[in-house]
Amino acid sequence: MPELPEVEVVRQGLDRFVVGRRIDRVEVYEPRSVRRHVAGPAEFAASLTGRTVTAARRRGKYLWLPLDDEDALVGHLGMSGQLLVQPASAPPDRHLRVRMSLSDGNELRFCDQRTFGGLLVSPHGALLPAEIAHIGPDPLDPVFDEDAFRSALRRRRTGIKRALLDQSLTSGIGNIYADEALWRARLHYARPTETLRRGEVDRLLVGVRDVLRDALGEGGTSFDALYVNVNGESGYFERSLHVYGRGDEPCDRCGTPIRRDPFMNRSSYTCPRCQPRPRRARW
Ligand SMILES: [Zn+2]
Repeated sequence: MPELPEVEVVRQGLDRFVVGRRIDRVEVYEPRSVRRHVAGPAEFAASLTGRTVTAARRRGKYLWLPLDDEDALVGHLGMSGQLLVQPASAPPDRHLRVRMSLSDGNELRFCDQRTFGGLLVSPHGALLPAEIAHIGPDPLDPVFDEDAFRSALRRRRTGIKRALLDQSLTSGIGNIYADEALWRARLHYARPTETLRRGEVDRLLVGVRDVLRDALGEGGTSFDALYVNVNGESGYFERSLHVYGRGDEPCDRCGTPIRRDPFMNRSSYTCPRCQPRPRRARW
């Protein structure tokens, strides 16, 4: 599942290869991929045709392309979605769901094997689409409010990792980056949020930002070609992981074997020495 850095890499690619181009033709092959456009696939296509893309923006794992009529094309990649910019002559992917012909001869193609992702046109959504206004900004977003984050985190009265995964508190942090940020901040995932001291929250924010920036730095090299891609497994970042997926391997800081615990149907990885489990734990 793509996490924030992967989606940001896609946004950068869209910024480079789609902004400034006009959408000349739209074909929807899979109605499920535009199911959240309630007016239906034909209206979806009609409202995009002839519009020029003026920017490429992101909030959490949502992308939106403001259009020259103040509407916006909104996209979410779901589990397996990809937004590809390819020449019209390139053979289409087996999972091509929506095809948009651009004025420069390329095509913006939405491919999605499992069809959990989707596209919609948001009326007057250029600034911030109403459909995603409930998503909190991520810690790399210039509009992210640190003080609001600190107080909201304490009020949450839950385990710190569960709070990090809550998209209304801060968006775009999935299981992998939560574990990595907590290791960097030397905090256990089950720490009750109301017990966090200010310095610990600051450490957490530094950890989250560092891990996201590092992942972005590695992903940023992957789109030299005319190709905007999401690697759903975030494979390129795998080399830099300190705890995630490294059960029983030595901690990069202290050598203690990394511990894997079940967590919300998935796993949590910690160093038992760097991230001691709190006496009072909250899941
Ligand atoms: Zn350690």
